[in-house]
Amino acid sequence: MIRATVLVSGDPLSLSRGAEETKLALEAELSFYGLEDEVQVGYTGQVTRTDILPAVIVYPEGTVYGPVTPQDGAFIVEEHLYKGRVAQKLVAPSEVSPESVVALPAVSDVLYGQQRIVLRRVGVIDPYSIEDYIAQDGYFALGRALEKMTPAEVLNTVKSSNLQGRGGAGFPTGLKWSFVATRPESVKYIVCNADESEPGTFKDRHILEGDPHAVLEGMALAGYAVGAHEGWIYIRGEYVMAKDILHRAIQQAEELNLLGDNILGSGFSFHIHLHAGAGAYICGEETALLESMEGKRGVPRIRPPYPTVYGYHGMPTVVNNVETLANVAPILLNGAEWYRGIGTKRSPGTKVYTMLGDVNVTGLIETPMGTTLHEVIEIYGGGMKNGKAFKCAQTGGSSGTIIPADLLDVPMDFASMAERGAGLGSGALLIADEDTDIVDLAYVLVRFFKTESCGKCTPCRVGTRQMLEALQRLKGGYAKKADLARLEEVANYVRSASFCGLGQAAPVPILTGLQYFREEFEAKVGS
Ligand code: SF4
Repeated sequence: MIRATVLVSGDPLSLSRGAEETKLALEAELSFYGLEDEVQVGYTGQVTRTDILPAVIVYPEGTVYGPVTPQDGAFIVEEHLYKGRVAQKLVAPSEVSPESVVALPAVSDVLYGQQRIVLRRVGVIDPYSIEDYIAQDGYFALGRALEKMTPAEVLNTVKSSNLQGRGGAGFPTGLKWSFVATRPESVKYIVCNADESEPGTFKDRHILEGDPHAVLEGMALAGYAVGAHEGWIYIRGEYVMAKDILHRAIQQAEELNLLGDNILGSGFSFHIHLHAGAGAYICGEETALLESMEGKRGVPRIRPPYPTVYGYHGMPTVVNNVETLANVAPILLNGAEWYRGIGTKRSPGTKVYTMLGDVNVTGLIETPMGTTLHEVIEIYGGGMKNGKAFKCAQTGGSSGTIIPADLLDVPMDFASMAERGAGLGSGALLIADEDTDIVDLAYVLVRFFKTESCGKCTPCRVGTRQMLEALQRLKGGYAKKADLARLEEVANYVRSASFCGLGQAAPVPILTGLQYFREEFEAKVGS
């Protein structure tokens, strides 16, 4: 009889740090103690903090160890699983100091002092196992919806939950679905935008790698609500592991008739396919994504018509982000009122962030909407690294705004951030300390946008190059006063005249950098 489960974080970072060897060591040691029939070992998603990877989680206690080397793994088996006590200290030689190896209860405030809806199974289940997902309420929302709810009831539940799209814009999900549901066409599509390509943004990858069925179930529910029978996941080509996990998850769900024809005998059919992108950042823009899916060059379309009217192959299409779709089943399970009770009134629910930069702890967190940046840094980031002072943060990934210390206590939700001219964007929080050079930061970000500009429109194609050249002159100390004025002029022009969100976002680091740290730009102007 199985009395314990040991999960090893199997995300790419953990694997690069030796998670596979740790898992092998655990299995060998379990065999040495004759425990292989009592303790099962598997992989799980990224548990949250990058500093404790690779992590080992022992259930049913939910004790988290990390970082765990193969030698540590053997020690955990001896102490925890054989002798039955939490392995507090390492005795085996380890590349990390014993003090850095911690025993953390998985459900304690230390690790999961977050309100987890989207990530609630990440680090808890084996993403390769549909049985693990089902054991944690998986596919229950879909089964119940198909048996007891009409498509309109599903749509209205999502609508009244006030779920907003987590891809950056915060558009109401239920409203978007209703645009497609009311279209007369008989063919409609659900597209999951998993083309996460911004530097520093990796939350969707961890959702897919840690809990793939949550996204599949959300897509099937969306299909049922709007009358679509085909779904596509457009996934970033470099997400090899996520693709593999999704591929297997779709197969498993089809084998159990949770996807495919006549799901659970309900008469509703829904098929999901994978489409891997070729590595262009612009394909994260929904219309460029659709062009790419159709086999064309990935450049944005003129809008309107929006994808809800003219989407994939000209048919009404819902394009939702990974995190958005992962919220759907919990809303159907617990009700719209429950969801509205989390977060803020104007932006209910939670938000998944990637937290990186000059904080003591980096990683993946999920907190209620309205959590402040101050709280993120102190509670989840463990404070600023090396006792340095906070200088600024970039919220929303590379295309996000640079915000100074006096906005640290603004509630992070769509509405409150928008009122201050900031945004949540892709969910990446880059935290920078007092030593950060704002001009350097702007340069790195604009270089990314210049490289990724698709070239379709002149303001972005030419403007990103001109901005980069001006920043180069500033960095080199040979810029004139007129160069700075020209930089600001071009940045404003690119912001207002670019065809799509990429070009409109490219000058944001410059403009917000100038807004809050103008003196640093001026200090670099040569005589
Ligand atoms: Fe392409 Fe940039 Fe124009 Fe968007 S703004 S269409 S990325 S050139």
